[in-house]
Amino acid sequence: MIAVEQHLARILDTVRPVPPFDLGVLDAQGCVLAGDVTAQGQLPGFTNSAMDGYAVHAADLEGASPEAPVVLPVVNDIAAGNTNALSLATGQSMRIMTGAPMPRGADAVVPIELTDGGVVHVSLRTSPAPGQHVRHEGEDVRAGEVILRAGTLLGPGQIALLAAAGLSRVRVVPRPRVVVLSTGDELVEPGREPGFGQVVDSNSLMLTAAVRAVGATPFRVGGVPDDARQLMETIEGQLVRADAIITTGGVSMGAFDTVKEVLSRVGTMQFDKVAMRPGMPQGFGVLGEERVPVFTLPGNPVSALVSFHVFVAPALRAMAGRPESAWPPGYVPAVAAEPWSSVEGKMEFSRVVFDGDRVRLAGGQGSHMLGALAAADALAVIPPEVTEVFEGDQLDCLPLLGAEAP
Ligand code: AMP
Ligand code: MG
Repeated sequence: MIAVEQHLARILDTVRPVPPFDLGVLDAQGCVLAGDVTAQGQLPGFTNSAMDGYAVHAADLEGASPEAPVVLPVVNDIAAGNTNALSLATGQSMRIMTGAPMPRGADAVVPIELTDGGVVHVSLRTSPAPGQHVRHEGEDVRAGEVILRAGTLLGPGQIALLAAAGLSRVRVVPRPRVVVLSTGDELVEPGREPGFGQVVDSNSLMLTAAVRAVGATPFRVGGVPDDARQLMETIEGQLVRADAIITTGGVSMGAFDTVKEVLSRVGTMQFDKVAMRPGMPQGFGVLGEERVPVFTLPGNPVSALVSFHVFVAPALRAMAGRPESAWPPGYVPAVAAEPWSSVEGKMEFSRVVFDGDRVRLAGGQGSHMLGALAAADALAVIPPEVTEVFEGDQLDCLPLLGAEAP
């Protein structure tokens, strides 16, 4: 039996970031930049107004106040999108909208609220400082400047910056493509009614959703029977499009545990008992010329999902160029709201529900119990040496992957 940390370390030592690839900036959401990015242009691209108001020469309004407004002729209107380069002579003003280019010569904007809103002449009740309500070209970003560093995770703000700075494509670590297949003669495709002795292949849907929830791209292959040749053919066929493969089922001590039987002989696959509950039987290794990481998870649904959180999610994050978030896995502290017992010598992942910062068991803890799994918010991580959780104990909890599907 090996420790959870040992199995995870072997996985994280093996996986590598997916090779960089150019993507459209929007498609790159959730990806990490593979290199520094420099701005193609400056931001703002031209000096423009920060307010709806009047472009003026600040010097013309010296001393202007509500009691002593200054009246100037309005010689033009400048809307956002106006592409003419205009000039403002001293002693004149132009009505200007937010984002419209400042006319040459003008050095301040008086907001419309501080005027009478005139269109032929305008009465201005304030004396602006030079530069007031003006956005200067290049004040945000200078052309050629590094705007985002390698390793930056791209969200809405970063995508806006890239687009505004003139980039339509960026080089990123692409989302790992992950093939999900389940094994078992008893499996029927979801949507079909299982006969006596059959079960719906819920694992492949669950793991496909989990892959999506960590920002990777799943390919759901679905159920493969417990047949050595079919299994090997399926895996070989999938290797070409996979950055990683996840299987479930067929890795324990049963007579028809085909995954273990077939894969033990190939690549660097290694099958271990890991000191955890649920999820003890685990396999991992690389297959094929491209050395594709293969995770063989146990078939019991709760075991499979726990294994995904503990081993696969950190690996997929590392493969996506996010090793900083691979491990430790973002534990949330919580207090036990009730006592429960835990197995000795194994790290226990109890399914729990949050009640503020307190947690209680989500229901039955059998590794086949999907009802309690679906009710759970998190996995409380109980160390191997702990056999009793007492009310009031401090616990580390691993939140279950959420509903967000990028
Ligand atoms: P195994 O690891 O293949 O021995 O399977 C352990 C248990 O998990 C058995 O009760 C299986 O029927 C169940 N199981 C295996 N694969 C799946 C699956 N894809 N979906 C739902 N249950 C499964
Ligand atoms: Mg099986």
